[in-house]
Amino acid sequence: LRNTGKNSGQRSKKFALINQGCRLNAAESQRIAQELQKKGWILSSPQEAPWVIINTCTVTHRADADLRKIVRKIQRENPTARIVALGCYVDHHGEVPGTYLSLPNPRKMEVVEVLEEVDRGRIARWKSRGFLKVQEGCDLACTYCIIPRVRGPSRSLPWAEIERRMEDFLVLGYQEVVITGIHLESYGRDLGEKSGFLNLLQRLEAFYPPVRFRISSLDPRFLTRELLAYILSAPHIMPGFHLSLQHYSPRILRLMGRGSNRGFMEILEEIRATRPEAGLGTDFIVGFPTETEEDFLLLYRFAGEAPFSYFHVFSFSPRKGTRAAEIRPRVPERISKKRSALLRELGRRKKEEFARAMVGKTLEATVIKEGEALSENYLKVKFDEKLPPGNRFLFKIEELRFPYLVGNPQE
Ligand code: SF4
Repeated sequence: LRNTGKNSGQRSKKFALINQGCRLNAAESQRIAQELQKKGWILSSPQEAPWVIINTCTVTHRADADLRKIVRKIQRENPTARIVALGCYVDHHGEVPGTYLSLPNPRKMEVVEVLEEVDRGRIARWKSRGFLKVQEGCDLACTYCIIPRVRGPSRSLPWAEIERRMEDFLVLGYQEVVITGIHLESYGRDLGEKSGFLNLLQRLEAFYPPVRFRISSLDPRFLTRELLAYILSAPHIMPGFHLSLQHYSPRILRLMGRGSNRGFMEILEEIRATRPEAGLGTDFIVGFPTETEEDFLLLYRFAGEAPFSYFHVFSFSPRKGTRAAEIRPRVPERISKKRSALLRELGRRKKEEFARAMVGKTLEATVIKEGEALSENYLKVKFDEKLPPGNRFLFKIEELRFPYLVGNPQE
């Protein structure tokens, strides 16, 4: 595929195309090149084009190694190029490290639209990760929470709309997408689906193999055996889990309208045993009305013994219009602050201990800004090299400079 040289004054609408492997690939590469040229794109060299498309092959290990070599060479010779990998390698191994976007075989031809969309600047990437809000509102009634009142019952985003948003994310080159919602396990109920959230995760896995998903938060009371088993084994789900627990004293949990602490420790231990390097966090509310020293000690002991890698601590503050705002006696602020500080200090020590255990390991992390990446298990990694935000890399962790890990990207 040679550069025609026409319109060579335009820099931005240039692309290079590298074909690996079989004739089928060559034919498709030709079609992609023609489609792009019809839309005014100019074929150029990998050294100067702002877009370099590689139609990959994975028939042998050799082909895989060649591909990695090609990517490194482009990065060296044309560091600002956006590399797009298509085809067989993506089907077999997922996203190609160092690329702006990886598309599997069935979606190869979308590359034409991707270049067009980005060129038109129709969608600008404003964050290094995509945030996919799939659900809004809540059907539950935690006594401290105003959400059900102000945001109404749970409503789920239909699949067609999720697909549309995912397409935008792919166009923007997001490699990590955070699935968010107020109460994710309620997803799909209003659409008449029983295991809606599990079905959604399975669909996302089937449709978007190169993307890795982070689940923003889960409610342990609604974590079914099937859902837990799935998120612990599915490769596209990042091993960073946030479970919404709030407290551990059964009495306080009841007053919060959150049932009991049944199963909390078992779930946490199962996650830790299955995914030893998983990030595992929660939120705690301290100083809930009537909280005694004994309630707090129950919480403190649980927080110390459970395999958390971090937790957030909030001091209770009454929200007008909630039932908890009416519960008496309130815990004096001085005591609430003291308890929060004790628990926060414990959280800091646990986070440091977890982070220290990562030294010497290799972690996948998404670059979130210059010199900083967020690991799959939710730790911040500092590094020296210039790497494109939004891309995922493997980092060898060299040391801990708490709260940061310091790592080197691996080839
Ligand atoms: S705390 Fe969460 S689960 Fe409870 S009512 Fe509020 S949004 Fe729903």
